[in-house]
Amino acid sequence: MPLTFELNTALRMCGFDRVFDTNFTADLTILEEGTELLLRLKKALLDGQPAAFPQFTSCSPGWVKYLEHFYPEYIPNLSTAKSPQQMFGAVIKTYYAEKHGINPADIVTVALMPCSAKKFECNRPEMDDSGFKDVDYGLTTRELAKMISETGLDLPHLPKSDFDAPFGTATGSGVIFGATGGVMEAALRTVIELVVGVKVEDLFEHADIKPVRGFEGVKYAEIPVTQVGPVPAILAPLFPSWDFLKGATLKVAVAHGTANAKKVMEDIKAGGPFSKCHFIEFMGCPGGCIGGGGQPIPTSPEIRKARAKAIYDEDAAYAVRKSHENPDVLRIYSEFLTEGPCGHPSHKLLHTHYTERGRYIE
Ligand code: SF4
Repeated sequence: MPLTFELNTALRMCGFDRVFDTNFTADLTILEEGTELLLRLKKALLDGQPAAFPQFTSCSPGWVKYLEHFYPEYIPNLSTAKSPQQMFGAVIKTYYAEKHGINPADIVTVALMPCSAKKFECNRPEMDDSGFKDVDYGLTTRELAKMISETGLDLPHLPKSDFDAPFGTATGSGVIFGATGGVMEAALRTVIELVVGVKVEDLFEHADIKPVRGFEGVKYAEIPVTQVGPVPAILAPLFPSWDFLKGATLKVAVAHGTANAKKVMEDIKAGGPFSKCHFIEFMGCPGGCIGGGGQPIPTSPEIRKARAKAIYDEDAAYAVRKSHENPDVLRIYSEFLTEGPCGHPSHKLLHTHYTERGRYIE
């Protein structure tokens, strides 16, 4: 049984004033990254301009660093959307601070992550779009376990408590970010539904997009767009209609672990089948974050399998399973990021920029 809500109590007892759910910014990432994909498709298919395809996911700092070192010529293919961790820091020190009358200089943000590379990511000097260091510290799950044990707290027997508002609502899509294929599945649930105009459950049973699930090193799927619906209000400023997508086939792939990433990147360099993809999810660790470097030791294929099962079971139990239906995400777009996904305020706070000198430096 997940101990998420007991953990909220433990964190407060350890001295944290507010506890927010990173799944909130996982949903925000899907809105931003999914819109970016649609904008690239529009640029290529409607405007006839060159666009960098395949678009690569950018939420795994292990993968991002690998690409920067070994395939820097493909940096333009990386989504400019920041990771959920970095989006959260930027949002807390702007939107949250403003809403609650707190001086952002007085806020210390700590990200609890399965990942040791997240410490590196939060220390990248350009991650300061809030006007401050967006995320001050990263703690791994292993470090937190040690902290809790040092304080003598009996985690499984603590009372449960909720996340703090206004970032306490998550969806099943945010939860599955932790397993290989999860970011792709979350993005597809949203992109398909917003474009096709029918419930994704009508196309994939229970909204489970199984072709992108599982531990195969590299997965590939094709999604034909046989019909399009009306453009939803949140994307109306960017897209007059979806006609440019009618009849297209969305080609996607998923790779986890750098050995598999290398295979896909070499294939792309050679002009192979993966170079024809529109969107590829890469995760630095085998199995995705469930096998992350900050996770409890040991990690084995069986343990990864059990962690993935726990994640998909949790997703199935969520009342809301799609990022674009997260009410807290919709609220931040109506109150703060008022130009919608990929609008100017979002771009400033939630996206990075690349140049020949590096990914993030404007
Ligand atoms: S896949 Fe690994 S490197 Fe990437 S975010 Fe997850 S734990 Fe970190």
